[in-house]
Amino acid sequence: MNGRACDGCAFWSKALSFDALRFCKKPRIKNVISKNILNADLHCHSIVSDGTLTPEALAERAKLNGVELWALTDHDEVGGQHRATAAAKAQGMRYLTGTEISVTFAGETVHIVGLGFDPDDAALTQGLRDTRGGRRERAMEMSDGLAKVGIQGAYEGALKFVGNPELISRTHFARFLVESGVCKETSEVFRKYLTEGKPGYVPHRWASLKNAVTWITQAHGVAVIAHPARYKFTPNEEYALFTEFKTHGGLAVEVVTGSHTVQEAVKYAETAREHGLAASRGSDFHSPDESRIDLGTLPFLPGELTPVWELLEDRIQ
Ligand code: AMP
Ligand code: MN
Ligand code: MN
Ligand code: MN
Repeated sequence: MNGRACDGCAFWSKALSFDALRFCKKPRIKNVISKNILNADLHCHSIVSDGTLTPEALAERAKLNGVELWALTDHDEVGGQHRATAAAKAQGMRYLTGTEISVTFAGETVHIVGLGFDPDDAALTQGLRDTRGGRRERAMEMSDGLAKVGIQGAYEGALKFVGNPELISRTHFARFLVESGVCKETSEVFRKYLTEGKPGYVPHRWASLKNAVTWITQAHGVAVIAHPARYKFTPNEEYALFTEFKTHGGLAVEVVTGSHTVQEAVKYAETAREHGLAASRGSDFHSPDESRIDLGTLPFLPGELTPVWELLEDRIQ
């Protein structure tokens, strides 16, 4: 970090003024390019999970939006990785392999992003297969719950939106309920039908934190806590998440993501520093029709943090 200029501040000061500058303890040195000034987008989804674009269309869109380093991170699945790697190469864009693993921790679903792993690693691919198992039964139970409030045929309806039947998710149900006119947009479906206590919500036990982090790190990747502001943890539970994550070998946390407000990004920049974790940046883009934040359009990482790509230099393709 010696001599690192805090060029990210230019962006952060616009959005945040004083708050962002708080993190810039080092003097700003003009014309020194920080490693943080990189249009990396290390979180998005394709039709292989619950996105609506193919890996090739995502690569093209990322390139058009100026992304320099890209990762496709489909939920619980690495089936799109070889296509994404080839598509990135065809676009002249650097690439890191990716996935986003569903984990159950302290009774909540937590997402752990993996970056830069070997996508053919046997333990990782088996672990992901096990994590996907049970989605079909869960989806049928969700459909039963929705039928009880008068919404018929939701399982079959959701299936029409699924690219990969093993990955049927709440997002596909949300698209079906929008298509059938029950709600105007997917966020309304989640609010009214698909979150805890609502008729289409079915609790599910995903992978353990230890397993998810171990699969990623043993496949030579880096594990990243995804969008930490999204979880409803008490401060003690959140502290336990971060400390256990590190114990298992986790090295990074998403700071700048499409799921965070500016204030949340500032908060988790501080958390990353407190825990000595590297920082990641990713839009969590799913669809041109649904996602608020497009690929490659987020602010850069705050200047003083170690970007996760610094840990993955030899894994970038
Ligand atoms: P699942 O893995 O089946 O529980 O589905 C989780 C997915 O639902 C996430 O990856 C998001 O894409 C989507 N999701 C979760 N909460 C919301 C929300 N409030 N609004 C829109 N999409 C959501
Ligand atoms: Mn999703
Ligand atoms: Mn997520
Ligand atoms: Mn995601």
